[in-house]
Amino acid sequence: MHKESGAQAIIRELEGGYSIQSGVFSAVNSKVTVALNPLGQFEAKVDPAALSASELEALARVSAMSNPDLDEDVLGKILFGAVPGIRHERLLGYYSQIYAGYVKTGDFRATSSSGGLATWLLVQLVEKGLVDGVIHVQPSGGEDGLLFRYAISTTVAQVRAGAKSRYYPMDLSQVLRAAKEAGGRYAVTGIPSFIMELRLLAEHDPDFKHAIAYTVGLICGHQKSTKYAEAIAWEHGIKPGSLRSVDFRKKIEGKSADEYITELKGLVGGTETTLAKEATEVFVSSWSHGFFKAKFSDFTDDLFNETADVALGDAWLPQYAGDYRGTNLVIVRNPVIAKIIDDGLAAGDLHLDVLSPELAVRSQPGLVRHAYDELPYRLARADRRGAWRPAKRVGASEDIPFLRKKIQDVREQIAEQSHIHYQRAVELDDWSYFVRKMKPLVDRHSLLYAITDARRILGKGLPYLAKRAFRGIRRRFGLTDSPR
Ligand SMILES: Cc1cc2nc3c(=O)[nH]c(=O)nc-3n(C[C@H](O)[C@H](O)[C@H](O)COP(=O)(O)OP(=O)(O)OC[C@H]3O[C@@H](n4cnc5c(N)ncnc54)[C@H](O)[C@@H]3O)c2cc1C
Repeated sequence: MHKESGAQAIIRELEGGYSIQSGVFSAVNSKVTVALNPLGQFEAKVDPAALSASELEALARVSAMSNPDLDEDVLGKILFGAVPGIRHERLLGYYSQIYAGYVKTGDFRATSSSGGLATWLLVQLVEKGLVDGVIHVQPSGGEDGLLFRYAISTTVAQVRAGAKSRYYPMDLSQVLRAAKEAGGRYAVTGIPSFIMELRLLAEHDPDFKHAIAYTVGLICGHQKSTKYAEAIAWEHGIKPGSLRSVDFRKKIEGKSADEYITELKGLVGGTETTLAKEATEVFVSSWSHGFFKAKFSDFTDDLFNETADVALGDAWLPQYAGDYRGTNLVIVRNPVIAKIIDDGLAAGDLHLDVLSPELAVRSQPGLVRHAYDELPYRLARADRRGAWRPAKRVGASEDIPFLRKKIQDVREQIAEQSHIHYQRAVELDDWSYFVRKMKPLVDRHSLLYAITDARRILGKGLPYLAKRAFRGIRRRFGLTDSPR
């Protein structure tokens, strides 16, 4: 079969809306600019007519969707394959240690979204002089319409001020330019596809190979647009344009780790107001619905940030999830990070339980099912439509249960239509328009889940009920020796 060129692939990737929009394209070619589009997503402006074939090929080489040769398996092997004692698991990628735990020292855990390991590790890298700065996410005040952006922190205080998960889009173009100009070595945080594109950039450009010293990866359900935060605020009275800050994960004493609240600050009727909302009070809160989801998130099979030096998430396991203070899942790949963690354990700064790879995978049931088990169906659906789609490490297949196909279909509709109907609702200045348009899809999603659950319970229960009935009949007609 004719293999398409990188130049062809990148054009189709952009046309199809599959790009990660991490900002690395601008780092490769300054003719590519990045801007927020009206749907609240970053978008690279690439004019194929203004770029030569070799320039387009260069973009493909740093794209997680169109790179012709390097996928996460190949890059993972280049990065970590030679680490003594390293192992590999299909979903986790390479790993040398896996833990569940949290930071014991100071208030790292209290001021972070989960167990605080991300911020603690970044602080260690700065304090030990292993990096000149940290490229991560800082609140940005909202003046230019953006609440968060990638920024370079050089002091421990700055690194600590950037703690917490930001369910918000951001791009790396400006910080990458600044880091290249300044020189030096940096630790970078990012969701899986961003880290993958940074690794591809480092393979492509020796300056970035030098600059990107360590990568601290986050596990990621999916990427949201800016409208996710805006919608939560609008539902509760802070109109679009009046939101000043969001804490997506405020821990509540006595609750379980996933019962965090969203805290919003903004203007309600001209008055500065702080709101705190539980997930049950927020129409767009369910991650399984996928409101405001970026398209690329449904076309990645990198669940555990396989090319990051360390991947961090939440240990969503029964033994940890009950603790409102948060517990990290920690997958270590780089020996320098392993040594920092060993030293932290020896000093009593960390509490970490060793976790098996099976338990690590089991800690992300929803993510594994949606992003991995059911990706083949999404690929097959794209193929059925005759559209271009990125090549993935899994093949296309329609072989998932009928109801799960329907759930995947309605999720696609929620993701796509939430962008469109929200934009219209803002034009109409009418939050209820958005709810009216989206509610039927949400209800269909709930109904499909209810049927799936009912079938599972009945599937388990029917043989048992049949056996009991059969035993009753035998007893009733004296066909049994003694009652059991
Ligand atoms: C969009 C998104 C989806 C996620 N989905 C899942 C999931 O499905 N399952 C799961 O187990 N974990 C998920 N996480 C990760 C989880 O929320 C925590 O970030 C992780 O457990 C680390 O917690 P911590 O307490 O160690 O981090 P903290 O100490 O709070 O530090 C987090 C660090 O990451 C940086 N950061 C925050 N948001 C971003 C971002 N969007 N991009 C780049 N850097 C960022 C911060 O600036 C900070 O330096 C997700 C995170 C994000 C941002």
